[in-house]
Amino acid sequence: MIAVRDLTKSFGSTVVLRGINHGQARGEVVVLIGPSGCGKSTFLRCINLLETPTSGTILLDGSVIVDGSDDTSKLAEERRRIARRRTGMVFQSFNLFPHRTVLENVIECPMHVRKIPRKQAVEEAMGLLGKVGMENRRDFYPSQLSGGQQQRVAIARALAMRPDLMLFDEPTSALDPEMREEVLKVIRELSDEGMTMLIVTHEMAFAREAADTVLFFDQGRIAESGPPEQVFGNPLQERTREFLKKVLKS
Ligand code: ADP
Ligand code: MG
Repeated sequence: MIAVRDLTKSFGSTVVLRGINHGQARGEVVVLIGPSGCGKSTFLRCINLLETPTSGTILLDGSVIVDGSDDTSKLAEERRRIARRRTGMVFQSFNLFPHRTVLENVIECPMHVRKIPRKQAVEEAMGLLGKVGMENRRDFYPSQLSGGQQQRVAIARALAMRPDLMLFDEPTSALDPEMREEVLKVIRELSDEGMTMLIVTHEMAFAREAADTVLFFDQGRIAESGPPEQVFGNPLQERTREFLKKVLKS
């Protein structure tokens, strides 16, 4: 489903990603852990093409979406546009449109990008809001919702584009502990339905339970990867051990 080969990303002279290789099957849930500043967000942003990689290749379902960075042709642009729609991204800070209601937030992109009629967009949106337990908040504005509720709407909004792949960048980090669980529950349900997901999180208990594969990022590289039992239970790398010791203590 996703194949990333030798992906690098630099900002000026700062090298952030130093050659990432990653393969992920349809339906596989991959959780990314690692210290702050090691490039986790940049990696997700490259896959979603919010950032243009410096070099490397990304394939989605066998079709190339990025091949090197200097590809500015019309064809490459079109390729990127299509690829962007196939991934849904959920951010730490929710990023809902503040002056639009819950329902308007969810129907906006399907109407303008998928170009479906309003009536159909509303029907689909209500289905998705039901799924995340927010159907009775359709006419609320984001400021009238708790953080956990806003994040659930953000998930519904991302799903409304019918993505093949969902990217989550620390979806619960901005939430109080009691709201985290309601968001994690939605993510678990998506996993049960077979959604392919790449999740950055500091919730180690969730990572252990939800992941098929865990990637430990360190200084722009995948330092260790494997099933959660291995990465958490018997890490091969000293750096992984140190990191886990630190986060599991706090
Ligand atoms: P993480 O999500 O693992 O905490 P990030 O991917 O956000 O790490 O950042 C990795 C490094 O890249 C950091 O040193 C950060 O300062 C740098 N970085 C991220 N985005 C930019 C940018 N737009 N311009 C310059 N440096 C950036
Ligand atoms: Mg980050």
